[in-house]
Amino acid sequence: MSMGTEDHLWQNWARTESARPARVVSPRDPDELASVVRSRDGLRVRAVGAGHSFTGAAVTDGIQVRMDALSTVERVDPRPDGTAHVTVGAGIRLHTLNRVLAACGLGMRNLGDIDRQTIAGAISTGTHGTGARLGGLSAQVVGVRLVTADGEIVEASREHRPELFEVARLGLGSVGVLTAITLEAVPAFELRAVEAPLPLDEVLDRLDGPDGLVDGNDHFEFYWFPHTRRALTKANNRAQSDPGSRLHPVRGWVDDELLSNGVFAATNRLAAAAPSLTPRINRIASRALSARTYTAPSHEVFASPRRVRFREMEYAIPRERVRDVLDEIDAWTRASGDNIPFPLEVRFAAADDVWLSTAHGRDTAYIAAHQYLRLPYRRYFQAVERVMAQVDGRPHWGKLHWLDAARLAELYPRFDDVRAVRAKADPEGAFANAYTDRVLGAVR
Ligand SMILES: Cc1cc2nc3c(=O)[nH]c(=O)nc-3n(C[C@H](O)[C@H](O)[C@H](O)COP(=O)(O)OP(=O)(O)OC[C@H]3O[C@@H](n4cnc5c(N)ncnc54)[C@H](O)[C@@H]3O)c2cc1C
Repeated sequence: MSMGTEDHLWQNWARTESARPARVVSPRDPDELASVVRSRDGLRVRAVGAGHSFTGAAVTDGIQVRMDALSTVERVDPRPDGTAHVTVGAGIRLHTLNRVLAACGLGMRNLGDIDRQTIAGAISTGTHGTGARLGGLSAQVVGVRLVTADGEIVEASREHRPELFEVARLGLGSVGVLTAITLEAVPAFELRAVEAPLPLDEVLDRLDGPDGLVDGNDHFEFYWFPHTRRALTKANNRAQSDPGSRLHPVRGWVDDELLSNGVFAATNRLAAAAPSLTPRINRIASRALSARTYTAPSHEVFASPRRVRFREMEYAIPRERVRDVLDEIDAWTRASGDNIPFPLEVRFAAADDVWLSTAHGRDTAYIAAHQYLRLPYRRYFQAVERVMAQVDGRPHWGKLHWLDAARLAELYPRFDDVRAVRAKADPEGAFANAYTDRVLGAVR
């Protein structure tokens, strides 16, 4: 195992958090990790993934555990119905996982819009994609292996230690360090992506109903540019192989031209330098793109690079409140004079039963506000947070917000159960940090 005590400055992707852990360890196997936990000598222990959380979820002043060596594929168990249970090291990056699954003729049911994260980091904060009939990544987890506070290596699933499983599959690493995760994968599939600009009001009018944009597509999302009434829509549906419609490279404009490429970086820089131009820039950006259709393997359609660095807040709200929330944010933007060059992103998920899932028990819409790295975000995000409070919004565990455990307890019906599991699994708070103290409550 490599182990260092020298000065390790760690920063997250968004440059909102940094840490100087007392020690950094890179265990080669679960046994090494277990011995680190057993001999922690009063230090707190926290695993770090790819550092893609905007919050202080991964920050520690104690022992930082890097999981890169625990990132192999352990087993693939085909199931009679064509799905498979796939056990992977907790530190595997999603892009590697996707490649391995594809090589086995498998894929994930649903994914978020980048693939740089580790699987453990992604599930621990409730990472999700879009799809009204689908859950997030934690809902696709069927088993976990973790090192607990007393240095034991234990397995948990719905059948075996189900309560520990609940908090291990989405709980900010607060009951142990995950070493392996078993996922339910599905047979590989292709997605046909249709991207089209539409007036925002038309999108909102057509959202609901059995043939509406949300229920009528496997994966629907849209981007709305503040200061305009324009939206860019993206509908991905399962397709038969259709190589004729492939683009090279495979992604469409939402990824290639809107969010990832140099033009978007340039418009953001321009907006930062000349804020009053933002409404005009947004009007042009939201009209510049024409409709486009392509088909590709699912993981290539789901994920794309994000080369323009930003800060993000995302709230899960009851699905039926999308229009109200966007109206309120629109009203605030107009009144405040703040300039926001980055679009808001709206996605959807089915209600699930994961205790700390932002979609727990309710059909959900996700509304994400972004701000370019060089522009101030606090006033805007705090205004968005006030709007979200009116609809009992639940913040993404890995994205910026200012809620605390007292408020979150009102929003999650199983919050007390989570507290009880933590109190039993980690009575000394070995896996706690300032962020878990704030959002889950201090264990002692
Ligand atoms: C550009 C960008 C795009 C994004 N897109 C999406 C998206 O589409 N959908 C979405 O929902 N989110 C999205 N996110 C948020 C991101 O998915 C989450 O913040 C995720 O947690 C990041 O994973 P990570 O591997 O970087 O974990 P980190 O941020 O490093 O860690 C996250 C948490 O997991 C814990 N953890 C990590 N490894 C372990 C382990 N082995 N055992 C126990 N706990 C562990 C950490 O301690 C921490 O609490 C995006 C973020 C960025 C920067």
